[in-house]
Amino acid sequence: MAIDPVCGMTVDEKAVKYKAEYNDKIYYFCCEMCYKAFLKDPSKYIK
Ligand SMILES: [Zn+2]
Repeated sequence: MAIDPVCGMTVDEKAVKYKAEYNDKIYYFCCEMCYKAFLKDPSKYIK
């Protein structure tokens, strides 16, 4: 399982539809909204 960095929800990386690579790491998202929010400003969600 992975954590959606935008909303903090647990997501199944095998079933997930939305993912993005950033700084050589892959992030998974529960929905399109979280995905788009992340792409808009990735550094806001990564520490
Ligand atoms: Zn989410």
